[in-house]
Amino acid sequence: MDWHGIFASRNDRMKASEIRELLKLLDQPDIISFAGGIPDPDLFPVQAFQEAFAQALSPEKQATALQYSVSEGYGPLRDWIVTEMARLEIPCTRDNVLITSGSQQALDYLGKLLLSPGDTALVGWPTYLGALGAFNAYEPRYDRLDPETNRSAQDYAEAAGAGRVKFAYMSVDFANPTGKTLGAGMRERVIDLADALDMAVIEDAAYQSLRYEGEPLAPVLAREIARKGDIDACRTLYCGSFSKTLAPGLRVGWVCGAREVISQLVLLKQAADLHSSTINQMAIATVAEAQFDVHVDKIKTAYRARRDRMLAALEAQMPEGVSWTRPEGGMFVWLTLPDGIRGDDLLARSLRTERVAFVPGHAFFADGSGANTIRLSFSSTDEATIDAGIARLGALISAVAAE
Ligand code: PMP
Repeated sequence: MDWHGIFASRNDRMKASEIRELLKLLDQPDIISFAGGIPDPDLFPVQAFQEAFAQALSPEKQATALQYSVSEGYGPLRDWIVTEMARLEIPCTRDNVLITSGSQQALDYLGKLLLSPGDTALVGWPTYLGALGAFNAYEPRYDRLDPETNRSAQDYAEAAGAGRVKFAYMSVDFANPTGKTLGAGMRERVIDLADALDMAVIEDAAYQSLRYEGEPLAPVLAREIARKGDIDACRTLYCGSFSKTLAPGLRVGWVCGAREVISQLVLLKQAADLHSSTINQMAIATVAEAQFDVHVDKIKTAYRARRDRMLAALEAQMPEGVSWTRPEGGMFVWLTLPDGIRGDDLLARSLRTERVAFVPGHAFFADGSGANTIRLSFSSTDEATIDAGIARLGALISAVAAE
C-alpha cells in the first residue's frame, strides 16, 4: 500500500525527532544521559499531587473532575495564572488565558492559527526543535531571527517572497537549546521589528521560573503592555508551562495574550481535543495554589548546584577549542566544538565507547547548520555522575581533536 501517496503534503516536513529516539536510551542503566532536558523525577511534588488527586476525586469534586469541561480551561487555574502573570508585570483577565495540553500544544495551535503554507516564521538559529516540529506541519518557510544584527524589517519582508512574515518565535529565558537569555534591549527590538512587520511574537517561557542567578528580566509581553497600555492591544503571545516546575506528565500549559487571539485559539482547541484533562488541571491548580513558590525554590536549589557542577567540570575537562554557554537558569549548556568535529559523529562514538548521551546541535537549526555543536542538559543527573560524564566526554573530544 502506498501510504505516502495518501498522506497530506504537510507530512513531508515532519521527521522523527532525534530527541525522542534518544530518550529511549535513558532506560539503559549504564548510560550517562545529558540528552533529555527533563525534570528530575525525584523532585516531583508527589505527596502534594497525591492529596490533590484525592481531593479531586472526593464526593464533592468528582463529578467535575471526571467530566467534560470548557475548552478555555479550569476557571480556578486560569485565575491562578492571571495572578502569576500580574507578578510578571502582565496585567490581564481570565479571558486572556487559554489552558493547553502542555505548551507544546500552544505552539501547534499558534502555527495552525497563523501560518498559511509558504508564510515565513522567524526563529533563532538554533531554536527549540519541538517548535520547528510543531510549525512544520503548517508548511512555513523559516528565516533567521537575529535581533542583535540590525537587519531591517524591509529586508525580512522581502526575503519572505510571496508569503508574509507571520511571527517571530523565541524562547527568551535560558533558551532550549542554548541556555541563553535575550537581553532587555533585544526584547525591545523584537517588539519594534514586530510592529514594523505587523507580525505576532510567540514568547516561549517554558523555563521562565528557573532562574538561578541574576535579576529577572521583564517578559516581552510585559514590555509591550508597558508601551501600549493594554494586553488586548498587544501582538505578543506568551506560552507558559507547568512542565518544568511541577510535572510534565500532567500536560498542562497556557497561552496568555490578546482576547481576540485567545477566543480564536479556543475554537481551535474545541475542534482538536475539546479541552485539556479536567482532573489534571484541578490537581495543578491545587498544588500551584498551595506551594508553587516553595516547590520552585526547592528545585532551583537542586538545579543550580548541578549547573555549577557541570560548568566546573567543563572548565576542568574540556580541551582547548571547545566553548560553551554559561546559563543563568534553565536546564541546558550549549557546546561549540572545534571545526570539523561533528556532533552526530561524536554522539555515535560516545554511545559506543563512553556510554554518554547528549543531543547533536544541528537538529535545532532550521537550515541544518550547526554540525559542530551539541546540547548538554544538567537537570536530571546527580553531581557525581555529571563529573564522571563530563570527564569521559572531555577525554573523547580531546582524542577526536588529536586524530
Ligand atoms: N518550549 C520549550 C522551549 C521546551 O523546551 C519545551 C519542552 N521541552 C516545550 C516548550 C514544551 O513543553 P510542554 O509541552 O511540556 O509544556
